[in-house]
Amino acid sequence: MERTFLMIKPDGVQRGLIGEIVGRFERKGFTLIASKLMTVSKEKAEAHYAEHHGRPYYDDLMSFITSGPVFAMVWQGDQVIALSRQMMGKTNTLEAAPGTIRGEFAVHTNRNIIHGSDSPENAVREINIFFEPEELL
Ligand code: ATP
Ligand code: MG
Repeated sequence: MERTFLMIKPDGVQRGLIGEIVGRFERKGFTLIASKLMTVSKEKAEAHYAEHHGRPYYDDLMSFITSGPVFAMVWQGDQVIALSRQMMGKTNTLEAAPGTIRGEFAVHTNRNIIHGSDSPENAVREINIFFEPEELL
């Protein structure tokens, strides 16, 4: 069974979308195996977004993701990595289909409500950044 790391970003938490978003993954049939409201430290933010270091949007991404509480989650289910990315919608909000989370709730690419792991390797890496093994059911 596959696992992924999903995170409601500060804009999603601030706008009161935790329940809406958790509900979508529950109704899809996935299982929540860990979750917490937390502030992302500079160290965790840098580790999480290491591959974006040097990009023009990197500094904004760092300050945004550390700007307020996020809701970090681990979800489990068949093909949860690819299916949750589909439910989130495309990164560029102009391409995020109506009905997806970003399509419904996001206007700007740099304030796009939710993060989801994009590969099995990154899922393991990101879960380990945000959760201790004993926090997972
Ligand atoms: P995430 O990793 O947050 O789930 P993603 O995998 O859809 O998003 P990535 O390419 O990994 O997209 O980019 C990580 C984040 O960096 C995006 O969610 C977005 O907030 C920001 N970002 C990426 N590209 C741009 C861009 N061109 N302009 C502004 N912000 C961007
Ligand atoms: Mg990504």
